[in-house]
Amino acid sequence: MLLQGKKGLVVGVANKRSIAWAIAQAAHREGAQLAFTYQGERLKESVTELAASLGGTSPLFECDVTNDAQIQQAIDGVKASFGTIDFLVHAVAFAKREELENEFVTTSREGFKMALDVSSYSLVALAQKAAPIFSEGASIIALTYYGAEKVIPRYNVMGVAKAALEAAIRYLAFDLGAKKIRVNGVSAGPVQTLAARGISGFTDMMKIVESRAPLRRNVEIGEVANAAVFLLSPLSSGITGEILYVDCGYNIVGM
Ligand code: NAP
Repeated sequence: MLLQGKKGLVVGVANKRSIAWAIAQAAHREGAQLAFTYQGERLKESVTELAASLGGTSPLFECDVTNDAQIQQAIDGVKASFGTIDFLVHAVAFAKREELENEFVTTSREGFKMALDVSSYSLVALAQKAAPIFSEGASIIALTYYGAEKVIPRYNVMGVAKAALEAAIRYLAFDLGAKKIRVNGVSAGPVQTLAARGISGFTDMMKIVESRAPLRRNVEIGEVANAAVFLLSPLSSGITGEILYVDCGYNIVGM
């Protein structure tokens, strides 16, 4: 029960395959009470059903992370339900399909802006608006990917957005550290999800990882969730501004 008595907000559940949902289940297993956001009416039903499957009542709030007013409303709602929170899970990313199909050099201004707004700035906006309701020792995590630092063909603008996200994690960790709030990233290996389906050649990425990763397999979503729980829990109290790789070791291999 690593998160016994802790309350947290999970942003990024789309369906039962979402990494955010795996983290929510693991956090619930460890005793946490959870609130969720959903991106819009389209996802309301599936997130409501998933949240209900945890038993008890988990407050739900609509929140498109590109909309500051909706972020504020969601945080106000969390405050009304929970008072304060002990953790925040950011598992949100988006890029237009065409930006992930062609060469990176063809990236449009609009596509670049949108990918960085949804996938990178959203962490800053959420941390900023949630700062007043974080308890002392609170923990923020964001999901990232190795394409932030090495070229993964066709990951394109999403790699640039993840690089910005990882830098934002460090800057937020520095600022919020004064309030004893920790901020870390979980860099997950490829996992079959809705968002992953938008990346051209995703199946090949999984095959390559399986053949080259030290553990000779792809990571399981539950392993990503367990690492996330570690970073959300007091067991990681001395760690902030870090990126934790949960990728069967793929990132350490040069060739
Ligand atoms: P997912 O289930 O599709 O989750 C992505 C979430 O982002 C969805 O809930 C999506 O909602 C949400 N989102 C997109 N635009 C949004 C917006 N404007 N406002 C609010 N929410 C928005 O896929 P996932 O793979 O679990 O992704 C979760 C995180 O893990 C992402 O940051 C992703 O980059 C990261 N990650 C994934 C992998 C992988 O291989 N799957 C590996 C490393 C890191 P909609 O469905 O409505 O767009």
